[in-house]
Amino acid sequence: MFLVGLTGGIASGKSTVSSQLKELGCPVIDADVVARKVVEPQSPAYRLIVQHFGREILLENGEIDRQKLGQIIFSSPEKRKLLNSITHPEIHKEMFKQILLYFLKGYRYVVLDVPLLFETRRLTRFLTHTVVVYCDPATQLSRLMQRDGLSQEEAEQRIGAQMPLKEKRGLASHVIENSGSREDTHRQVLRLHTKLEDSMEFLVIRAIAVAAVAGLGGLFLCTVRLLVS
Ligand code: ADP
Repeated sequence: MFLVGLTGGIASGKSTVSSQLKELGCPVIDADVVARKVVEPQSPAYRLIVQHFGREILLENGEIDRQKLGQIIFSSPEKRKLLNSITHPEIHKEMFKQILLYFLKGYRYVVLDVPLLFETRRLTRFLTHTVVVYCDPATQLSRLMQRDGLSQEEAEQRIGAQMPLKEKRGLASHVIENSGSREDTHRQVLRLHTKLEDSMEFLVIRAIAVAAVAGLGGLFLCTVRLLVS
């Protein structure tokens, strides 16, 4: 198995591409979904967050008020660091669990949909390919304003708070150009899908896994023989 990182900038079209890949049958792990899952009530991360941030960050139904928490960490880098130190290990554990499940089911690759892939850089060393969904700045701005109902100033502020999309494009091994029509993007997604399906890179990890299992099996047999003789 090999891992493919999928990322982009706000409103560049990452979710659109991710959905198209899922429709083609690709296994996709969405880091945002995982991030929500690991802070569900009574999970270890949930308990730690309540312990450090207080019960005032909870909604009436006991769930974490993500908006409130977002506002707190927005104005305090220290609190952001604290929150990340609580959630990131849990997110990585859960992602690893899901990757392992796909591996055991025999999938050749898994796509990791991670908005801040190049900002945190924690995962990049495990990835065989990185895909950036790119669109030109004017298109990104207008799509963001339209999707989230933002003024031009608000949208520019959100885009400005991220790593420039051009920079991400430079770091990727594969770029999907999403400034044009959805059909044009879909054609590129189809090409990427074919490339991933045809890739033999999964064989490396599978061979390592088979060798490891065979090695352990041999060791076990030798031990049994020694004990019996
Ligand atoms: P992201 O996940 O990167 O934030 P989205 O996939 O949500 O971005 O796309 C942002 C907005 O632009 C959405 O409203 C989406 O429907 C729209 N969109 C994405 N790609 C295209 C395209 N090729 N043509 C027209 N609209 C698009």
